[in-house]
Amino acid sequence: MYPDTVLHWIDDSTVASSSGQTFEKRSPIDDRVVARVARGSGADVARAVDAAATAADGWARTPAPRRGEILGRASALLRAREHELAEIVQTETGKPWKNAAAEVGSSADLGVFMESEGSRFYGRTMTSPIPNRSVRTERAPIGVCAAIMPFNSPLAGVAWKAFPALVCGNTVVAKSHELTPHTAVAFGQILRDAGLPLGVYSVVQGLGPEVGTALVDDPRVGLVSFTGSVPTGKAIQQRVSARPVLAKVCLELGGKNPLVVCDDADLKVAAEHAVASAFIDAGQRCAAGSRIIVFDRVYDAFRDAMLARTAAVKVGSSPQDDCGPVISRQSLDRLLRAVEGAVGRGARVLAGGCAVRSLAPGYYMAPTVLENVPHDDEVSQQELFGPVTCLYRAADFDGAIRLANATAFGLTGAIHTFNSNRIEQFIARYRAGLVSINGPTYGSGPHMPFGGVKNSGNGFREPGTEALDVYCEWKTVVVNHDPARV
Ligand code: NAD
Repeated sequence: MYPDTVLHWIDDSTVASSSGQTFEKRSPIDDRVVARVARGSGADVARAVDAAATAADGWARTPAPRRGEILGRASALLRAREHELAEIVQTETGKPWKNAAAEVGSSADLGVFMESEGSRFYGRTMTSPIPNRSVRTERAPIGVCAAIMPFNSPLAGVAWKAFPALVCGNTVVAKSHELTPHTAVAFGQILRDAGLPLGVYSVVQGLGPEVGTALVDDPRVGLVSFTGSVPTGKAIQQRVSARPVLAKVCLELGGKNPLVVCDDADLKVAAEHAVASAFIDAGQRCAAGSRIIVFDRVYDAFRDAMLARTAAVKVGSSPQDDCGPVISRQSLDRLLRAVEGAVGRGARVLAGGCAVRSLAPGYYMAPTVLENVPHDDEVSQQELFGPVTCLYRAADFDGAIRLANATAFGLTGAIHTFNSNRIEQFIARYRAGLVSINGPTYGSGPHMPFGGVKNSGNGFREPGTEALDVYCEWKTVVVNHDPARV
């Protein structure tokens, strides 16, 4: 059941804002008001950080395998309550049921992976040139971690940050996205039921400039783990740099991901993957395929295959649908304006380009395919975060690689070809955190490091064992076994 009022989650209780203020949460499916949300302030952030700071020492001293056990129980509860959680995710995002349920499953998978990492908290031993010395490295928790999240996958979003942070012995203050506020609270209730001690995980609700900034500024926060847009990520990095004492900053940002279709590709398979990459979650995925780069020689045939496949995409939020609404009315209006602007500059609309009238007042946009968009046009360069993709022509392989690299992003990318030289060259020459061969531009799992280069991130990877490097510090330990000798 979705609550009428979404509150903060502090010390295992739902808590109203100290100011008493709230804001509306509307449903992307039909624009109705589903809840009022606590509008947090600096005072609420301070209260959550107090709880996290108080709990930090006890949790850090809990042996890592014991911490892992709690995560394992939380994963089992996620599976047992799949329906309830998928319902919350669907209410907040409007995504089709199968995608909401898949989010619950993948979050539980990550908990299981991180549970077992608790029993594998390996460091290294090293030699010393000095007699009677031993040297080793250990993983050490950071303390209080801030987790600031986007709206597109609210459960996976919080699970990807909280599970590794917790197994590493940190306490977490999560900041829900204002458009998907309750999921992180429901996740907190599961952690409590799994036996997580009081204060180890909290959630604050509210607007980025009011609550996010207060969290980033709090000197007790040792790590800011942020997933969201490039401007916000850059602002957070600057803000942390201005603190008297620095914090670690992990940025997982946007993408403008290419899918390259070579002249030897299986065009039907490539079209299937291009359409899934562009329109799953209504294109609101950092790994969405928003630039489809096609060899001239097969451009017309591929375009036909892609448009046929696009026409078969079912828009709606029912179990059989593929492409749900975008998150807000503002987002829909922004996307429609972007398409209109591109058309004004010469783009051709091959599919969509408009809202789905029959599903109004829900925020549904028809899956949109554009062509004739210059590669330096803003629609080619800026992440749109909606069901809009563009087709580009490439004269040859080098041209395709040049285009693939021609944005400020470098998150993911795919190539469709059976030529092993092209495959290896794409892997080597396309600069990104993830490349996919004969598949979609998305794809991640609990064991797979995910993150980007350039404006897509600042070098960290979540999840996989690499996530432990986000949420731990390495401590080098030097022991003198014979202190009497200098
Ligand atoms: P956003 O930057 O608007 O908001 C993200 C979060 O930051 C929200 O919780 C918001 O309240 C908060 N925030 C806003 N201003 C803030 C400030 N000044 N200080 C602190 N916090 C602030 O992003 P969004 O629109 O919610 O999310 C979409 C973006 O997320 C896209 O760019 C997408 O590509 C990216 N994303 C990246 C990944 C990844 O793994 N790389 C995954 C999912 C989404």
